[in-house]
Amino acid sequence: MSLSGNLFRELGKHIPAGLARFAGRPAAVYFHGVQARTDDARLQTNHHETDVFRAIAHSLKTHFDVLPLDALDDVMKHPERHSRALFLMSDDGYANTLTVAADILEELSLPWTLFVSTHHIDTRERNPVFLARLFAFFAAAGAYRLPNLKEPVVVSDNGGFREVAANRLVASLKKLNGPEARQAVVGMLKILGPEHVAELIMRFRSEDFLTWDQVRALATRGVTIGAHAHWHWPLNEAQSESYLRQQAELPRVRIEAEVGPCRAFAYPFGNVGDVSRTAWQTVRDAGYDCAFTTLSGSLDPRMNRFLLPRYGLGLKETRSASLIPLLRAGNSRLLDWQKSLAA
Ligand SMILES: [Zn+2]
Repeated sequence: MSLSGNLFRELGKHIPAGLARFAGRPAAVYFHGVQARTDDARLQTNHHETDVFRAIAHSLKTHFDVLPLDALDDVMKHPERHSRALFLMSDDGYANTLTVAADILEELSLPWTLFVSTHHIDTRERNPVFLARLFAFFAAAGAYRLPNLKEPVVVSDNGGFREVAANRLVASLKKLNGPEARQAVVGMLKILGPEHVAELIMRFRSEDFLTWDQVRALATRGVTIGAHAHWHWPLNEAQSESYLRQQAELPRVRIEAEVGPCRAFAYPFGNVGDVSRTAWQTVRDAGYDCAFTTLSGSLDPRMNRFLLPRYGLGLKETRSASLIPLLRAGNSRLLDWQKSLAA
């Protein structure tokens, strides 16, 4: 969650939703998964509870024109004509987007785009951040050496230490290139042991990814399918050019082979520090029409189409309609960032 995202959330509490009609600019918003109930908020960090999600969806339906991604060109050209336009998106490809979210959005006739990380659809392998958090919370207390991490990872049962350890572990992993980070995650699973990992995977079914049959089922129901890299990892400065090329090109190849045309990309993590100059250029050169970050802002014709803003819908946030009109306040920061990554 970016600081500016939290700031917008705070401001939104004080602004009436009807303001959207007067002050709005087109924007893109996203969620991850939806599940009936959060059993363990330490691990299930990505899923809205069904009731909250339904309330958000109703509010978006009431206050905005939620449009299919096909309308992006026209909206970007004439943002003033589309002050209520909103693009709704979901990232990663969790199975519960089919079993829960799709029905709610279909009932309300809200179009949406699903960005899938194709390695995880191919293999059902869990999101590496989830696996790292699993390690930090469930490994026996101790100090562990992991591949490619200089410092030993210490987990202890004192107070909130495991939460601190989880955040530290994810932060140090994100400094590694994809293949090195993957080796470190494999090392964590080895320490936990296959039986313990299998038990934990069964406990946290919210983290299940869709199969290709299920992605096709969503596409048949009108969901636009986009790419979210192949492995769910930042496309940052730590990555080699060949890794970036693979992460841009392979998901498109896989989606086009399994589902159909794939025109849009969303960067995993997607914040400042998660997307390098080479990354967005590689995504552009891979033939996508547009790509989305997770920086706050409204859609504006001055923007780099491969670094577009997107706002993450908060897990407890049911007043999104009040703060979406404020997103344009993030544009100057976003444009500065785009400039810093200019060719
Ligand atoms: Zn993601």
